Amino acid sequence: MLSAVPRPVTVRVPAKINLHLAVGGVRPDGFHDLVTVFHAVSLFDEISVEQAQEPALEVHGDGVAEVPLDATNLAWRAVELLAEKAGRAPDVRVTLRKGIPVAGGMAGGSADAAGTLVALSSLWRLELGRDELAELAAELGSDVTFGLHGGTALGTGRGEKIIPVLARHRLHWVIALARGGLSTPAVFSELDRLRGDGPIAERPVEPVLEALSSGDPRRLALNLGNDLQVAAVSMAPDLRRTLRAGVNSGALAGLVSGSGPTCAFLCADADSAVEVATELAGMGVCRTVRVAHGPAGGARIVDTSETG
Ligand code: ATP
Repeated sequence: MLSAVPRPVTVRVPAKINLHLAVGGVRPDGFHDLVTVFHAVSLFDEISVEQAQEPALEVHGDGVAEVPLDATNLAWRAVELLAEKAGRAPDVRVTLRKGIPVAGGMAGGSADAAGTLVALSSLWRLELGRDELAELAAELGSDVTFGLHGGTALGTGRGEKIIPVLARHRLHWVIALARGGLSTPAVFSELDRLRGDGPIAERPVEPVLEALSSGDPRRLALNLGNDLQVAAVSMAPDLRRTLRAGVNSGALAGLVSGSGPTCAFLCADADSAVEVATELAGMGVCRTVRVAHGPAGGARIVDTSETG
């Protein structure tokens, strides 16, 4: 009789940027209340899972030296959570291929957790629905739910409550990757320090949602905003130069992605994005530059033959 060893499963998950990020006060649980507009862009991590004798985790790609290989890796936390839920041993090998910058404010670790949930529930034939996956995702981290979802979505709570946003038009981005990373908790603390006891300025989300539904990138450019940007720039002052350089190169607008230090530049169209990327790459204001578009789809199984 043939043994029924399941085939490895590979899932691709996009990076996110925040088109809008309004940070409220600190909650009793230590998190901040957020109102954010997530937007998935075409930089991807790939997560492969296969049955193994011993649990194993491998990471390949850019920035791997910064990625933990122990139980603190978000992908491995997803394995343990799902194994516990399924009542089975975590006897799998997980391979991560990083295309999302590490500690870049683009939720790469969260993407890996989302991808692992999808891949493993397929490998183990758990037949989990989207809602069940979303519940597990929210347990793993604030941005993991969006990794499942992709597209463009309004996030509230810690960012884990997701509502899809109408945004049919393709947007063109230049993503400037920085030399180091920034710790997300440290950036939130810096924002708290800068704000002190003063009132928190309102940052309404409606203009961004209206600009998205109009599909006009120029209108959207006027309404992009991120409360964490001031804190990220305070911790990494060179970002000011990067942001200025992107706009001087022809981008409609630029902003720090999430907690940074990656910067995202919205461009008028695909040709303009290539021009901005070329110019920015020659200016020495960032480590490397990528052209991307959004919205990209959320975590999905890809044919293993595509993954090369
Ligand atoms: P956040 O999602 O907290 O905003 P980020 O998007 O800035 O973070 P990530 O690439 O997710 O950055 O990494 C943040 C930290 O999480 C890293 O410095 C690393 O130590 C740790 N980490 C845990 N698991 C992973 C993973 N699978 N990939 C990348 N980093 C991971």
